[in-house]
Amino acid sequence: MAYESKEFHPAFEEYCETIFELAEDGIDVIQARIVERLEVSRPAVSEMIRKMDGAGLIKMNGNKILLTSKGKSLAKQVVRRHRLAERFLTDILGLSWAEAHHEAGKWEHVVSPRVEAAFIRMLEAPTTCPHGNPIPGSEYQAPKGTSSLCEVVVGDSFTVERIPEELEFQPGLLEFLEESNLIPGANGKVTAVSPDGTTTVDMKGEAIGVGAFASQRILVSAS
Ligand SMILES: [Zn+2]
Repeated sequence: MAYESKEFHPAFEEYCETIFELAEDGIDVIQARIVERLEVSRPAVSEMIRKMDGAGLIKMNGNKILLTSKGKSLAKQVVRRHRLAERFLTDILGLSWAEAHHEAGKWEHVVSPRVEAAFIRMLEAPTTCPHGNPIPGSEYQAPKGTSSLCEVVVGDSFTVERIPEELEFQPGLLEFLEESNLIPGANGKVTAVSPDGTTTVDMKGEAIGVGAFASQRILVSAS
């Protein structure tokens, strides 16, 4: 998926971005997680990790992979361009969330500093991507008092704050959330929680069932 057009996917950028985003979502970054996220083979990941270590982009802590400051600054650049491109593709060009996420995966490697500055100007210095994830280097301030959707008590209202990057890689999920109006800024109310962890929410009069995996990860605030 991510590797269909190689010239747009310089591997170092892709890997730095992946390591950054896994860590951002609180996931321990070991090789297996990169295998899953990038859908590449285990030997390919080991080989890249060795090269990145050689290039001073990562360091190992046991089996955990950590970005060095050089790796982190490359990661932030790619993540920033990805999230700015997503904003442009949704807000200006009117693409769906899922399309924007897919397209931004290519744009992130070709946006120049000049285009990046133009995005920031035109979009009026956005602080998050359309899914609520922070744009590195922006004036982002984390919303106070967030919890995951699964922690909201039945009967309580909430405002959607953030759809973590991890969920953007779940097939079909972005489409589902956007169509269900489960988007940052939207208000809803938890109406039921089933024993299997499905949270049912009321979004503008529509009952939406959110599975355990997503409801453990979607961040909301009380409203
Ligand atoms: Zn996003």
